[in-house]
Amino acid sequence: MSQICEGVVFIEGRDDMIPDSHVYVIGKTESKDLTMIDAGLMGKADYKLSSIMELGIELEDIRRVIMTHTHLDHIGCLPEIKERIPGAELWAHSIEAASLEQGDERTVYGMDMFKNMCQTQYGLKNGIFTFEVDRKLNGGESLAIGGMTWEVIHIPGHSSGSIALYEKRLEILIPGDVVYADYAIGRFDLHGADPHKHNDSLRRLGDLKVKILLPGHNRIMGEVPSGYILETAEQWGPYLA
Ligand SMILES: [Zn+2]
Ligand SMILES: [Zn+2]
Repeated sequence: MSQICEGVVFIEGRDDMIPDSHVYVIGKTESKDLTMIDAGLMGKADYKLSSIMELGIELEDIRRVIMTHTHLDHIGCLPEIKERIPGAELWAHSIEAASLEQGDERTVYGMDMFKNMCQTQYGLKNGIFTFEVDRKLNGGESLAIGGMTWEVIHIPGHSSGSIALYEKRLEILIPGDVVYADYAIGRFDLHGADPHKHNDSLRRLGDLKVKILLPGHNRIMGEVPSGYILETAEQWGPYLA
């Protein structure tokens, strides 16, 4: 766990048989209007919530969980989080929100083979990832939350309803699994993925000024070289054509 800057906390994922996403908590502590970005993998609530509390954050100050997207490694822990923080709302992009509300778990598991494997391994039943979504995002929103302003950017490709959160003043980008450090990008072969859209999304992110990159997995980048995301898009272009 670490404080990236005032208003941004990072809790590193702890990969299991399958990856566990990082979790970020955004918003200034004194605002008591905090937001958790992604929940992580099943069974990973305890250490994440303890880490958050060790930083002096009261769990009830977490007013919402915003999903960068709803793959299992990001949403698997949501039932546990909702149990521990019953007042927290769930916000997600409208496309994946519709699936969550209908109990359509194709995006959660990404592919049938993976679904069977995970359900067996973790004892998950059909339909447990059915949730009501309190706020459906579409991209283009400017969220004034926790004493900060975060822009929502719809960046489909890795999944249909992937979003990034961007703090323009601080030049912080939280892109989910769309782009990582070390010129890596998220996979683009799962349910709802689209390589062309992934390419467009990378290029749109490439237009932003980004100093701090906080992706869903692997290392975070505190000093992003200028042009980094565009260069990543260039390198991947031939595979996304
Ligand atoms: Zn993902
Ligand atoms: Zn992920």
